[in-house]
Amino acid sequence: MSMGAIYPWQQNNWARLQELRKRPPNGILFKGIKGIGKLDLAIKFGQSLLCQHPDESGFACGKCPSCHWFGQGSHPDYRLLQPEVLSLEGEETETGKKPSKQISVDQVRGLADFVSMSAHQGGGRVVVIHPAEAMNANAANALLKNLEEPPQGLLFILVSHKPQQLLPTILSRCLPFALSAPDAASATRWLAQQGVKNPDAALAFSGFAPLQAVQLEKQLGSEEREKLLRAVRQPAALDVFALAEALQKTEQVLVVQWLQQWSYDLSSMKQAGKLRYHPGEEAAIKKLVEPVAPLNLARLQKHLQTAKREAQHTLNPKLFFESLLFAYRQMMLE
Ligand SMILES: [Zn+2]
Repeated sequence: MSMGAIYPWQQNNWARLQELRKRPPNGILFKGIKGIGKLDLAIKFGQSLLCQHPDESGFACGKCPSCHWFGQGSHPDYRLLQPEVLSLEGEETETGKKPSKQISVDQVRGLADFVSMSAHQGGGRVVVIHPAEAMNANAANALLKNLEEPPQGLLFILVSHKPQQLLPTILSRCLPFALSAPDAASATRWLAQQGVKNPDAALAFSGFAPLQAVQLEKQLGSEEREKLLRAVRQPAALDVFALAEALQKTEQVLVVQWLQQWSYDLSSMKQAGKLRYHPGEEAAIKKLVEPVAPLNLARLQKHLQTAKREAQHTLNPKLFFESLLFAYRQMMLE
């Protein structure tokens, strides 16, 4: 394993973690927005703590028996707790039930043997819990017992996108470790390396979360989105019926979201002269919003918020899109 094994924007985080190696806490909380690689970093850190020959930067060697077990997913001193829905990755449960989105109390109790034993390899032990907010109240309370009476050498790494949802008693027993969103330059470079065609746009579209950006790229380049964005650029020429028909197979919530990002940028251009989601289109958008009253742009955003709720349960997508597009045209031309 090399430096390349962590994301380029995590170098500073990694260096900070090396400081902790000297005196590891019992619990550490990796927090930050979704899609910036918190779980991957937690796993890399866990592996490096168990590795028998980490290199001088603290990275796991990838060759020792410990790294070998880790790679096989069978390291006796390591556990990853996550909801069924994540570990099954779209497969069905044995009973055919929907996979759970929660980390159950049974999963946490299942750690009891692991926690009470001493390390197989004589080194440390690591439990990664992801995402920590997926623990229900019982699970969280069961975990708390372990955090209150920490076994020697055992590190709990909690990974959370929503730390405000965790029990204060859990928060107080974990060292907070904030992972900031990556800087645009290194994230864009990385996205380009992953084969993302419009890295700037994809990054902006994802809210500056590169891992999400990779996932979102498909939508971003989708024909429907292109069609929509071409049409809304010319409200006066917008053929509401034709566009609604062209979109009717597209998920309604998604279309509203595209329009929300579009309208966000219209307002942002009007008020601050800058864009968030549609980089590189400053001139066109500036010209478009020039004659539009700020109040109308605010009304448009409000309208879209309501539409997003309605989008969950419309029965007639075509009709829904027609009314949405009429509203857009009206507010842009009034
Ligand atoms: Zn190793």
